[in-house]
Amino acid sequence: MNYRIWLSPPHMGGGELKYVQEAFNSNWIAPAGPNIGHFENELAQYTDAKYAVALASGTAAIHLALCALGVGKGDIVLCQSLTFVATANPILYLGATPVFIDSEPKTWNICPQALETAVTYYIKRNQKPKALICVHLYGMPCLMNELLAICDKYGIALIEDAAEALGSTYRGKHLGTFGKAGIISFNGNKIITTSGGGALLSDSKTLTDKARFLATQAKDPATYFQHSEAGYNYAMSNVCAGIGRGQMEVLNERVAARRSNFNRYQQYLAAIPGISFQEEPAGGYSNRWLTALQLTSNVAPEEIRLALFEKGIESRRVWKPMHLQPLYKSAPYFGGNVAENLFENGICLPSGSQLTEQEVTEISNVIIELVEK
Ligand SMILES: *Cc1c(COP(=O)(O)O)cnc(C)c1O
Repeated sequence: MNYRIWLSPPHMGGGELKYVQEAFNSNWIAPAGPNIGHFENELAQYTDAKYAVALASGTAAIHLALCALGVGKGDIVLCQSLTFVATANPILYLGATPVFIDSEPKTWNICPQALETAVTYYIKRNQKPKALICVHLYGMPCLMNELLAICDKYGIALIEDAAEALGSTYRGKHLGTFGKAGIISFNGNKIITTSGGGALLSDSKTLTDKARFLATQAKDPATYFQHSEAGYNYAMSNVCAGIGRGQMEVLNERVAARRSNFNRYQQYLAAIPGISFQEEPAGGYSNRWLTALQLTSNVAPEEIRLALFEKGIESRRVWKPMHLQPLYKSAPYFGGNVAENLFENGICLPSGSQLTEQEVTEISNVIIELVEK
């Protein structure tokens, strides 16, 4: 399928080719080379994280974050249910047990009350959860104050899945820098892309050193190849890091463009009865990677998706919660039906940083027509 308007297409800034050319000129066509270090420094500087590790994907970053925190077989890892499957799968890779948590209706992210119920449930049974993965869905900050208070109170390591949230902040601090580790994705449809890639952010040198070690096959210090544990091949390519360096130069413009998309959609649609949007928490600033809305009218999101599809416009249903996935049907779940309702009634609208005002009008009119029909 070739859409006329895509959900979130790549948007090159122009500087990327210069860094990619440098990689070719110096023959650093490898998962090593100068673009990688520069890209990591630029990421750390931008987010104000002490350390950034460039990796092959956001999924790899989550996997390594869990490894570095010592998560292993039988450990409990709490995880936001309303997310893309990549958030939760690394828990399975390690033989740990995912426990899914419902969302709250304002940010659509993890519900602090349901989280605390789960934490105390397992602590009472002497099975203290080893980590929590929260997700800043579509770029929207979680209720960080409440989450951090719970993590502090019970001593639970927080991993922030900020795959969709580069450029978003909470009380002026970048998402991905609140927990023990944060992860970013540079997949093709994210706010900036390296074609495929990810990064791990942390203020802990021990944690990022361990992640680097594991990302490059866990080589023991020796002049020959000796290994005491199983590592992975998760490093980012120097060519991809070159694309990333060019993309960093335009990141702030991309955030501004996505927020402007959201503001336009809101202007058109907020007054329509039965339509509501994800809301920023107090002190939260979302990059609005995707504009997502919820319908309480009798129009199903699938009707909207199909009506847009007919016009060559790509939209996307809200993630199906993990606790409703066949893959995770036996995983414990805490909460009610907030995440399920968001899945049943939500839709993500085209949100690319090159979307025009005219296109936003066209898309909004399709929705208005269906809702007011
Ligand atoms: C994209 C995404 C990931 C995975 O990132 P990849 O780079 O595609 O591996 C993880 N979590 C969320 C919420 C995502 O949107």
